[in-house]
Amino acid sequence: MTASEPGDVADVILVRYGELALKGGNRADFERQLANNIRVALEPITPAKVERSWGRILVRPERRLEVAMRRLQDVFGLTSISPARVAPLEFAAISDLAERVFDEALAEWPRPGPLRFRVRTTRSEKSFPLTSVEVDRAVGGRLKERDARLTVDLAEPELLVGIDVRTEGAYVFARRLDGPGGLPVGTLGRALCLISGGIDSPVAAYLAQKRGLSMAYVTYHAAPFIGESAKKKVVDLVRVLSRFQPRHSRLWVVPFAAAQVAIRDVGTSSYRTVLYRRMMQRIASRLAEREEALALVTGESLGQVASQTLENLTCIQAAATLPVIRPLVSFDKEETVRIARRIGTFELSSVQEPDCCTLFMPTKPVIRGRPELCAELESRLDIARLVENALAGAELVSIPPQG
Ligand code: ATP
Ligand code: MG
Repeated sequence: MTASEPGDVADVILVRYGELALKGGNRADFERQLANNIRVALEPITPAKVERSWGRILVRPERRLEVAMRRLQDVFGLTSISPARVAPLEFAAISDLAERVFDEALAEWPRPGPLRFRVRTTRSEKSFPLTSVEVDRAVGGRLKERDARLTVDLAEPELLVGIDVRTEGAYVFARRLDGPGGLPVGTLGRALCLISGGIDSPVAAYLAQKRGLSMAYVTYHAAPFIGESAKKKVVDLVRVLSRFQPRHSRLWVVPFAAAQVAIRDVGTSSYRTVLYRRMMQRIASRLAEREEALALVTGESLGQVASQTLENLTCIQAAATLPVIRPLVSFDKEETVRIARRIGTFELSSVQEPDCCTLFMPTKPVIRGRPELCAELESRLDIARLVENALAGAELVSIPPQG
């Protein structure tokens, strides 16, 4: 594709985004961040012009249009996209272009036989001499003549030809791909996700990113009791998640075995899991400071495993100094698995790999943990030193945003 001349036919991707999110004073931030995220997402694929225009973002990739469109489907905040061609603001030119776009769509239509279609015009340029309905009728009438199998269906068309009349030209399109919805990553700040190699926490990170949070990660690793492959698994998961955000995904790999040994040695084995989790929250709260993250994210869900009761979550939460966000709190496992499959983390997560939590596993974990007992058991530990040592051994892995 070459750059367009005035009046020429040019390829552009019309990007739509959620208007609801724009209530309040955040509109400009939202649009700026979305345009930026689009730019970064396309960088490894093609040079592209990205500009904002009255409630839309216009993307002009130099090449690889189809790949670029698929990539845009990972950019949160965007509700739908259409590859479009542009005509100058004259009815004859618009109508000719609509015919061409329509013919292209018909040529690729998967079935023979009858086809219901309609034209739908929207106008943000109100000086255009024809109303939307007049354009619909005139262009629709002309398109219908193209083929005897065509009927107009305003309510439930199978093929919709859109005409978007804007100040700089009329955009004509016949395809509309769903975007992922959500809010542009970065508009709501930053959080730190406690990620294991399991199914849940990667999905929790994905959902938090979808709500506009830029994500950093921490994983706890029980070397030498548990091998390097557990760590590699988490790195691979973060790599999958990295395609949803514009900046590098920073993963802290924290040595956790010393803390676990110390916790084992205080006895009361039923409290081990809860005490491990409390330790994780403490260390994560400190790392969050380094990351300028304002919240922690976990994959915990109520009642999913015996240890995830309100009582235990309360004990665990109490060790954090930041709010703990649990996007999956009310999810059934099947709902989480469905998302994991869709975003491409399920297969990785399903590879059996020992997690640090399985180390010195209690035979009977406590179901209703009591905060006073947690505090009492921990009073026998040098918590501050364990936290400092873990932080001192933390290793940073930084993954670029192309997934
Ligand atoms: P997941 O599938 O995410 O492992 P889960 O359902 O297995 O979750 P738990 O094993 O009880 O539940 O873990 C609860 C949460 O604690 C996880 O979702 C994750 O946020 C955090 N977590 C558990 N183990 C680790 C770890 N090794 N490193 C970092 N975070 C962890
Ligand atoms: Mg787990």
